[in-house]
Amino acid sequence: CGVFGVIGVTDAANFVALGLHALQHRGQEAGGIVCHHPEHGFNSARRFGYVRDNFTKQSLMETLPGPLAIGHVRYSTAGSKGAAIRDVQPFFGEFAMGGAAIAHNGNITNADALRRELIERGSIFQSSSDSECIIHLMARSLQRTIPERMEDALRRVEGAFSVVAMTRTKLIGVRDPLGVRPLVLGKIADGYVLSSETCALDIIGAQFVREVEPGEMVVITEKKGVESHYPFRPAKSRFCIFEHVYFSRPDSIIGGRSVYETRHQIGVELARETPVEADLVCPVPDSGTPAAIGFSHESGIPYAMGIIRNQYMGRTFIEPTEQIRNMGVRLKLNVNRALIEGKRVILVDDSVVRGTTSRKIKDMILDAGAKEVHFRIASPPTAWPCFYGVDTPNREKLLAATMSEEEMREHLNVDSLKFISLDGLYRAVGEAQGRSPSCPQYCDACFSGEYPVAPTDMINKGFEL
Ligand code: 5GP
Ligand code: SF4
Ligand code: MG
Repeated sequence: CGVFGVIGVTDAANFVALGLHALQHRGQEAGGIVCHHPEHGFNSARRFGYVRDNFTKQSLMETLPGPLAIGHVRYSTAGSKGAAIRDVQPFFGEFAMGGAAIAHNGNITNADALRRELIERGSIFQSSSDSECIIHLMARSLQRTIPERMEDALRRVEGAFSVVAMTRTKLIGVRDPLGVRPLVLGKIADGYVLSSETCALDIIGAQFVREVEPGEMVVITEKKGVESHYPFRPAKSRFCIFEHVYFSRPDSIIGGRSVYETRHQIGVELARETPVEADLVCPVPDSGTPAAIGFSHESGIPYAMGIIRNQYMGRTFIEPTEQIRNMGVRLKLNVNRALIEGKRVILVDDSVVRGTTSRKIKDMILDAGAKEVHFRIASPPTAWPCFYGVDTPNREKLLAATMSEEEMREHLNVDSLKFISLDGLYRAVGEAQGRSPSCPQYCDACFSGEYPVAPTDMINKGFEL
């Protein structure tokens, strides 16, 4: 998901709409905005579909006045069938001190346990979302101020959270102690911005100030500016390495590095680790493109757009049902036949999850007359589900969970299939010594099976680590 918030500008909701539009790649199912105006109080709008189709209408934006607003774009989870509008964030709750609204990116790994406890004690849940727990925990807290209530609430929450919240006068941003999901602070005129990624600061002309640190809570008011708190026990950060590989936009900056540069470097590492003779390097667009360019640079094999992407389709992975996902690949990608015919082709993609995309693409490429197909993948085999907000399916559906690399190659029926090593990936993101086995610098659980936060709810349901 993507989160965004602004304080101290006229009609903050308009800025939030633009910010959410720039974060649309983080979630395409739905979006929502909550705002506050000194006279008109809190207002909100939550809609299914793209930001540009909803939050551009003047008739709607006029209902969202005020200098303070937050927003959320939602990324549908394969498990939650038939998403309901009540699950669309931000969530707003009125309680002591005037209430608050929150938008959450990540996943709370003890949400089931918390929800059960809260319901037993009388909380009335509006949605099926894990994020709603935060509001109820805040409402029940005995602390006086809302930021203190929020600290109280988040200390009970396990898992990954980058939260953007607001009260009547404050914009609040928090990252979980490991900083699994991103969150950055920006400045615009006399106001401040919080955003999942820097690409959304650019769109509104805001300046990047810094990242909100893992375990940090920033409380921003028009009068006092930014105050920083550290409510959690300090921990070593474990940022999601997959943000670098796939999730973030290539024009965003993470940890002082351009995501594009990192992906390019992943391609370079991949070419060094898994060279192969071929005529063309083609990306599976768009997610494989920077790595394919890096692969081509390093190997000297010409780069070509052998697959053309229909720009009017979203991210296929995000389509919730298998049937639509299957169709999705064809609706989205087509082979550039004239270029491919008779050629030995290296296809570079970011990841193999279920293998749906790779299988379809291989068929299309062979139909178009390619002589050989070699897959090169910019991440290690995805063998474990993510419980921290990137929605990977159950283990049974993950190709790499049940098959060896050679079995996957046979299953996809390609001439070769190679993945970057975990160390190679770490080198590409800037860790010259690779992955530290005793103390990994990133979360890489979907590749290694080493979960930095125990997935409590899943373990209770019988998931075996
Ligand atoms: P597959 O078809 O193997 O199930 O999925 C792989 C494709 O989905 C890749 O091309 C990649 O761009 C995209 N993808 C891979 N992993 C993820 C993920 O965790 N989240 C999302 N949204 N997309 C993914
Ligand atoms: Fe990111 Fe994978 Fe960790 Fe999930 S499990 S947070 S996708 S690295
Ligand atoms: Mg892709």
